[in-house]
Amino acid sequence: MSEDVEHRVALVTGATSGIGLAIAKRLAAAGLTVAVNGLETAEEAQAIVHEIGGAGGRAEYFPGDLADDAQSHGLARAVIDRFGALDVLVNNAGIQKVAAVEELAPQDWRRIVAVSLDSAYHTIRAALPAMKRKGWGRIINVASAHGLRASPYKSAYVATKHGVVGLTRTVALEVAETGITVNAICPGYVWTPLVAAQVADQARVHKMSEEEVIRTVMLAPQPTKRFVQPEEIAEMAFYLTGEMARSITGATISIDGGWTAK
Ligand code: NAD
Repeated sequence: MSEDVEHRVALVTGATSGIGLAIAKRLAAAGLTVAVNGLETAEEAQAIVHEIGGAGGRAEYFPGDLADDAQSHGLARAVIDRFGALDVLVNNAGIQKVAAVEELAPQDWRRIVAVSLDSAYHTIRAALPAMKRKGWGRIINVASAHGLRASPYKSAYVATKHGVVGLTRTVALEVAETGITVNAICPGYVWTPLVAAQVADQARVHKMSEEEVIRTVMLAPQPTKRFVQPEEIAEMAFYLTGEMARSITGATISIDGGWTAK
């Protein structure tokens, strides 16, 4: 079913920073109503939500800790209750922890899996009935190059992102005839506040200049030797919401500077 973009409603989880913020802005600029989720209080998120809404469309804040099953399910339900629809679901929130597997605390494992993988299961479950009623929907899961490849000391993150890819493929098959597409974007290293904050620390630990640490440590697996920008991910997410992307489903779309070509 075709419908004006202005009547579409999107939920972007983890939309107060980095990749999620760029996706929220891109969808708002296209005229969508965007439900912005994050961990901040409504007051803390006010300026960010104003910035997203300023790009166009309409933006409203929906706080919620996605480490909590009930809050994840409740988030998607709250968006449907508020706007009467949830057409574009972007599961973006994610965290990670770098540690050898035997040193990774069970609570860190649990939280990493819960925030990205469990929450995607819950939001998808809550969103699908509304999408099916319309005969149209877009589910975009922000996975990672680590959904396709492993790196040491990231067991929970790599397992989670592989799980997100498996969930994406399975749900895509289940809803293939309903007008709903389900895809995973798999970024390599993206220049976000999270990554930027690591540069100085890494340079200090490795006793290298910041340029050297970026090139030889952080971007070692990324053949282009440059960070992906959040706007590049956002543009792909926006493309996937369009009619010309209706045959793209169950896909893993790598935006990783050639990382997974190896
Ligand atoms: P970021 O830290 O800049 O943003 C993460 C967002 O998730 C924030 O808005 C934060 O509030 C939210 N969040 C964290 N825990 C949450 C929780 N419990 N409940 C609700 N919201 C929560 O990170 P980013 O770099 O923009 O990463 C976004 C996504 O992209 C993640 O899933 C990450 O794994 C993935 N990714 C990032 C990179 C990269 O290099 N930056 C590469 C591949 C994949």
